[in-house]
Amino acid sequence: MSITLQQLNDYDSARFVEALSGIYEHSPWIPERAAAQRPFASLAALKLALQTVVANASEAEQLALIRAHPELAGKAAIAGELTRESTGEQASAGLNRCTPEEFATLQQLNADYNAKFGFPFILAVKGPDGKGFTRQQIIATFSRRLKNCYADELAEDLRQIHRIAEIRLNDLFGYTPALGQQIMDWAEVIGAWSDDDDCLTCAYMTIAHRKTAVQLATWMREAGMEVTIDAVGNVTGRYLSDRPGAKTLMTGSHYDTVRNGGKYDGREGILLPIAVVKHLHARGERLPFNLEIIGFSEEEGVRFKSTFLGSNAIAGRFDLALLDKTDADGVTMRAALQDAGHDVSDIASIARNRDQVLGFVEVHIEQGPVLLERGLPVGIVSSIAGSCRYMVELGGVASHAGTTPMTMRKDAAAAAAEIILYVEQRCAQAPSLVGTVGQLQVPHGSVNVIPGTCRLSLDIRAADDSTRDQAVADILRQIDAICSRRNIDAKVELLMQAPAVPCAPRLMQQLSAAVERAGVPQFSLTSGAGHDAMAIAALTDVAMLFTRCGNGGISHNPLETMTADDAEVSAQVFLDFLRNFDVTAG
Ligand SMILES: [Zn+2]
Repeated sequence: MSITLQQLNDYDSARFVEALSGIYEHSPWIPERAAAQRPFASLAALKLALQTVVANASEAEQLALIRAHPELAGKAAIAGELTRESTGEQASAGLNRCTPEEFATLQQLNADYNAKFGFPFILAVKGPDGKGFTRQQIIATFSRRLKNCYADELAEDLRQIHRIAEIRLNDLFGYTPALGQQIMDWAEVIGAWSDDDDCLTCAYMTIAHRKTAVQLATWMREAGMEVTIDAVGNVTGRYLSDRPGAKTLMTGSHYDTVRNGGKYDGREGILLPIAVVKHLHARGERLPFNLEIIGFSEEEGVRFKSTFLGSNAIAGRFDLALLDKTDADGVTMRAALQDAGHDVSDIASIARNRDQVLGFVEVHIEQGPVLLERGLPVGIVSSIAGSCRYMVELGGVASHAGTTPMTMRKDAAAAAAEIILYVEQRCAQAPSLVGTVGQLQVPHGSVNVIPGTCRLSLDIRAADDSTRDQAVADILRQIDAICSRRNIDAKVELLMQAPAVPCAPRLMQQLSAAVERAGVPQFSLTSGAGHDAMAIAALTDVAMLFTRCGNGGISHNPLETMTADDAEVSAQVFLDFLRNFDVTAG
């Protein structure tokens, strides 16, 4: 029998603790310490309060909580000693139907994991969408996590316990994160269409890409929207207002992916608003403004090495010279578009009229670990970091590794090493500042020759341009100093420079208010990654809502994940934001 939040808020403490006794395994101290924080505004607020109790507990208490959990398919499972909740969860993952080999593998993994960390491996076997992992997925996750370090696994085990608790709470309340599950289900459908057989790649204007566009258009139409696919492949759905002369609020993200990418990067920001509009449409609810959802056709730059093709066209900044760019097979962008039935002479007319636009709000998976570390389902982006990229070529003297004394060398790689360490140290000095040397080569290097040349890339980003520019200036000065001390020539080439895009305070405030009404603390963060909102900022005010990214915050990778519950919180925040959106402050 399910209970309501109202009942739980009204219970005396003992009854509150009793009602939640099955949520955290053998650990009544968790509801005990959360009881005083009632009333809870929402189920999300209750979940967060319980999680905060665990976060604030001592490490000994956290370890006791972890150790209160049974091993997966372990001895307790066989002996029938599990709690009712655990028995059901393990059986739903088919862990009671292991083959002898799978059983042996799991026993070995349990033993190795316990020996390494001193606590059991915990996995919410119902998985991020509540539908359950397969045994193969469980074994793969187990093997992967066994390689982690102690602190990361302690944190991950606790997060999995919170996920188990979340699913148990949903059951207790008879609650289904329906919008979140819809978003996850749709992402699964289009996530299966790929240019590659064994992973998700959806590059511009390939068959998988065009099929995805048609599917998005279908879902938009079924959700009650007017739909068009434009000359660069953007899929636009309009949920029209019943007010005459209404202006348009825009949302959306990209549906192309990187090679071997994740299912939610970009796509969440299209599917989530479609699910929200479908919900509004089903209730016959109109908005006092038109809502336009755009599935941007291209953001990642995989096929033609040029990014933001879709959003630049909407912003009226599509560079027509790009049509002559060729892919790896020598096919021009123009030919690819024509082959897909697009008329490139229509591209200029895609640009939106800024007088008709109220703003742009993009929902996106965070693609990093910040919300995960903070234990928050959503966050509001304050600024999209500006970045600049350089290629540095260092010239020393390639000479004999055996005959050249250490004091007489001009070692280009040793200079590069010093530069890399300086970049790391300098970029640790401001919170939003990050610096990376992602490429490092000793061309024609050999084991017995002092490196005569070394090439390295630099990628420096920060939430504001002055922070970034100061860091870049220091780094360039330091490169000079290091190279002159070592008698190395340095050639520094600027490859790219994009200014930071601050999000519009009026949109951020309205998103924050919606987050707060959902019972979730407001939190803002910088986006270190570029997003379509950067390109749309040339047209109108922008803002972004981030959804927590699981698996340590990994993205641009098949391991990228989020939960149906976090997608639900994001969808509810977005829905509430729309319902309360101030059309007058344009
Ligand atoms: Zn993206």
